[in-house]
Amino acid sequence: MTTPIRTRIAPSPTGFLHLGTARTALYSWAYARHHGGEFVLRIEDTDVARSTQDSVEQIIAAMNWLGLSYDEGPVYQMQRLERYQAVVDTMLAAGTAYRCYCTPDDLEKMKADQEARGEKRRYDGTWRPMPGKTLPPVPAGVKPVVRFANPLDGEVTWDDLVKGPITIHNKEIDDLIIVRDDGVPTYNFAVVVDDWDMRISHVFRGDEHINNTPWQVNMFRALGAALPRFGHLPIILGDDGLKLSKRRGAVSVTEYEANGFLPEGMNNYLARLGWSHGDDELFTVDQMVSWFDGSHLNRSPAQWDAAKLLWVNAHHMKQADDARLATLVVGQLAKRGIEAAADDAMAARCALLKDRCQTTVELADWIEMFFKAPTPAPSDLDQHVTDAAKAALRTLREKLETVAWDKAAIAAAMKETLAAHAIKMPQLAIPLRVVVCGRAQTPAIDAVIATFQREVVLDRLRAI
Ligand code: GLU
Repeated sequence: MTTPIRTRIAPSPTGFLHLGTARTALYSWAYARHHGGEFVLRIEDTDVARSTQDSVEQIIAAMNWLGLSYDEGPVYQMQRLERYQAVVDTMLAAGTAYRCYCTPDDLEKMKADQEARGEKRRYDGTWRPMPGKTLPPVPAGVKPVVRFANPLDGEVTWDDLVKGPITIHNKEIDDLIIVRDDGVPTYNFAVVVDDWDMRISHVFRGDEHINNTPWQVNMFRALGAALPRFGHLPIILGDDGLKLSKRRGAVSVTEYEANGFLPEGMNNYLARLGWSHGDDELFTVDQMVSWFDGSHLNRSPAQWDAAKLLWVNAHHMKQADDARLATLVVGQLAKRGIEAAADDAMAARCALLKDRCQTTVELADWIEMFFKAPTPAPSDLDQHVTDAAKAALRTLREKLETVAWDKAAIAAAMKETLAAHAIKMPQLAIPLRVVVCGRAQTPAIDAVIATFQREVVLDRLRAI
């Protein structure tokens, strides 16, 4: 029998959903979906001082926006304290964990002494029971921590899905604290109990955790638990080659949503940031799922490329359904204090303009012209809206008062105006654009005019 594929994302709720976590979530989710497995959301909230419910909600909202649906969870670690305690008790009984009464001061002195002797700073095993060893007397008033009795000899090895085989000698690892003196488990211990209980088969996470994995592997072994496969994803560097961080631009998924990116654009971009499928750059999330089998994960750091993200998003803007874009644009306009309906006219505007926009913010920049009086550049007015042009625009306006309000009728009215004034199309179309749209370039102007309300167009033509 093969083990069912189960993956998870385990964010700490101390802020928004970071792009790096979003990428890990996407890979974990796609891997589970590819294999018809399951994806679990676990909230690692044992850092009580920094964890907030608001952050949990933000993270879930961002995952929903990306469409990363989970089959189980959210499971909160702080609701599983009894379970961790039960596991610690079995480890204490089995001798794979022990109580340590060293105070922070003791530890500092121990490590300073080691440093002075030119040794590596590490816990020296003072409280580790050993055959024939007498432990120090338990000091009064000190609450103990619990440490994992890491194997003293041999090595720990795993075959990383991203980095290949990794081996660490146990001699290099000290006995890790697994429960703090307040009874709360540490990350490395809770994560093992959870991945074991949740039958996680594949763990994808950032490679900042790679140094934790040897302890985790040893704890799985000590518990007699089946080991998941691990895949440590390289970090994401900013445009400047330094670690992607808040100080150097947007790193929260929520900000990208607010900035007018589409979830399919984000997913496409994040997918390529650490993984490839041949030369494919532009694809749907369904295609990614069908391709994402855990191979072709990059070993070297990825570099964030804001221009490429825009390019990818622009592709998905073109593919997007117009009615859906209309809804998104209405949301963007609302943020600017413009109330508009996501009606057929709005969808028609999106259809006309989406090809030239990289985000829904840019689309809203265009679509503002349908609601707000334009402010053409004085140079455009001088150059294009000449007295001759004004005369032609007046003729056109009279015709537009009565024609059927559609592209064909508007085009016909423009042609008649050209004939009446013996001018060429640009001599009418450009001034019309400047006066009605506030800019000298737009998509086909008859189509654009048809998506305005007639009265708005007439008012703007009357004002010249
Ligand atoms: N809570 C950890 C983090 O946010 C999860 C690490 C893991 O996936 O094991 O980095």
